Amino acid sequence: MADTPRTIHELSAAFTKGAASPVAVAEAYLARIGALDERVGAFLTVTRDAALAAARASEARYRAGAPLSPIDGAPIALKDVFCTAGVRTTCGSKILEHFVPPYDATMVDRLRRAGAVILGKTNMDEFAMGSSTEHSGFQLTRNPWDLTRVPGGSSGGSAAAVAGGLAAGSFGTDTGGSVRQPAAFCGIVGFKPTYGRISRYGLIAFASSLDHVAPFALDIVDAALLLGVTAGHDPLDATSVAAPVPDYVARLAGGVSGLRIGVPDEYFGTGLDPEVERSVRAAIDVLRDLGATVERVSLPSTEYGVATYYIVAPAEASSNLARYDGVKYGLRVPGGRDLIDMVSRTRAAGFGAEVKRRIMLGTYALSTGYYDAYYGQAQKVRTLVRREFEAAFARVDLLAAPTTPGVAFKHGEKADPLAMYMNDVYTIPASMTGLPAVSVPCGFSASGLPIGLQLIGRALDEPTLLRAAHAYEQATPWRGRVPELA
Ligand code: GLN
Repeated sequence: MADTPRTIHELSAAFTKGAASPVAVAEAYLARIGALDERVGAFLTVTRDAALAAARASEARYRAGAPLSPIDGAPIALKDVFCTAGVRTTCGSKILEHFVPPYDATMVDRLRRAGAVILGKTNMDEFAMGSSTEHSGFQLTRNPWDLTRVPGGSSGGSAAAVAGGLAAGSFGTDTGGSVRQPAAFCGIVGFKPTYGRISRYGLIAFASSLDHVAPFALDIVDAALLLGVTAGHDPLDATSVAAPVPDYVARLAGGVSGLRIGVPDEYFGTGLDPEVERSVRAAIDVLRDLGATVERVSLPSTEYGVATYYIVAPAEASSNLARYDGVKYGLRVPGGRDLIDMVSRTRAAGFGAEVKRRIMLGTYALSTGYYDAYYGQAQKVRTLVRREFEAAFARVDLLAAPTTPGVAFKHGEKADPLAMYMNDVYTIPASMTGLPAVSVPCGFSASGLPIGLQLIGRALDEPTLLRAAHAYEQATPWRGRVPELA
């Protein structure tokens, strides 16, 4: 493998022509993981034998002229939040350190049926709670652009894997920004589809009304491919959307001419790094030069997004995480006086500080006497946020904004939980409303760190979002740039 990582669409074109072999490519990625992941820390588990077996099967299909999909043979990494049959799935938590699921998540099953070569499971903030991957119960992940900095989170391992050339594509989950934010920090594409577009079945739950499965990719064509093979109705997920799945790649062409793009004032306020602002505004100028019309819009409730999210997400988490009781799954600390004591000891030992903080916040917000004041109120604000987006989308087709207020920060720099939470100020609204949103690379800071442009679209209008991001990517030099690691 050349040291320049190749996109999935380039790989599959090479496989089809016989110019590359899925087995050789899988071996090259596994070798690169072996050589470099000690420094990056992207993977928690590498499934070498299964990957090579999948690559051999893929190779046979190409030889027979019958690949299963345009991602057949593509080396893919999965955040350790997706259940994988027979493969340890930790969710970044000591409480699930030895958990081996008996089944595959629907999206994993779909990837396998599409012929993907799954390389392994990637590091994450425990239960996907965090913005830096520093809350993993196991290890630190480093940003391939600067190993002293975080890759973002909570899907930091999956983002670092793609940026580091350790996987051609990967998947994470985005509950409040956990795919878009690490994509921005690592200089790659992170695409959060509409809520319910990709099944959550087999995804270890954090906040069920906010959890989205989402791909990371080197470019928009790859993001469209990964979305195409995993999206679609799933009877096993009650919130799965039944709408048909369009051919996303076929609809990438066409440019942005005539598209109306809204720029929300509230996404350019205090706290935004001037370098990020400059790059994002320049990106919006590019879209205008390509034929889009650009206008200012207002989303006044943006300032309440983080506060609202930190009621709703912990409330749902406190309920979802009640299942880790030392009985049903994972860790049990024995030797307690009675059942309650065993459960307490297990949860005290198995959960990290951030997870405990969320469980306490959520339990408090849901308690009798506080429910209306906190959870009920937060749900009302969530409705207001949704209405503001609806009003904006009556006028414009897309919104353009920064993905994050700043570039990747140093390990340990945001020890204060509130400083960490503020990282998601621009990503949380699209999570709370379930709207599709993408982060696409739009330049670098003076210190060489990537910056992300965020585009937000109408519900189920992934095609327009992908088309605009693709047009931007084609017109600028940032597509598929990766750091020198070797
Ligand atoms: N950083 C946010 C949180 O800690 C979002 C996490 C996510 O999207 N999974 O909750």
